Amino acid sequence: MLIRSLRPEIVLPPCDHTRETVNVIGRFQEDISPVLPYLNATQPKALFHRPAAILRFRFEGHQVTLQPHEMALGGFEDGDQAVLTLFRLQRLINETWERREEITPSNVERKRLQALAVYRLLPGTNCKVCGEPTCFVFANKLAAGQIGIELCTPLCHQDAYVEKRIQMMTMLESSI
Ligand code: SF4
Repeated sequence: MLIRSLRPEIVLPPCDHTRETVNVIGRFQEDISPVLPYLNATQPKALFHRPAAILRFRFEGHQVTLQPHEMALGGFEDGDQAVLTLFRLQRLINETWERREEITPSNVERKRLQALAVYRLLPGTNCKVCGEPTCFVFANKLAAGQIGIELCTPLCHQDAYVEKRIQMMTMLESSI
């Protein structure tokens, strides 16, 4: 067992104590850094910052932030629900650690896709083949997950954009 005991603490969202949601933080003595690459591999759309040993993902609809000696969960209607979910998260972490020999760990550091970064790698011709009025509109929709890169057929198929295509695919693979 990786995390043996947990100290839950209910906290109100910072700067706005009028909001009707609560967050919960669980603190523990053990260092959970070694399990983060296994959770990064198994939790969909996890965001991993390896140098700082911080992993973020969603658990039962709530945003999770894991650090070496702390886990935080946000957006609960009441404290009891928050604490129960925190203990289920503890169980997930411990079970993942126990199954680590079956999991290929991942140190991939995914980042949120930025529209400007997408835009810089598009052809920039505003040709409208994708159905969007400009490349910038396309970039914003791609970053928001509303459309796929395959709709930009000039980028995907024309020899003139081979280098940009490779860079774009690399960026998309390491982003969410
Ligand atoms: S098809 Fe590609 S190059 Fe043409 S407007 Fe759309 S994003 Fe820009």
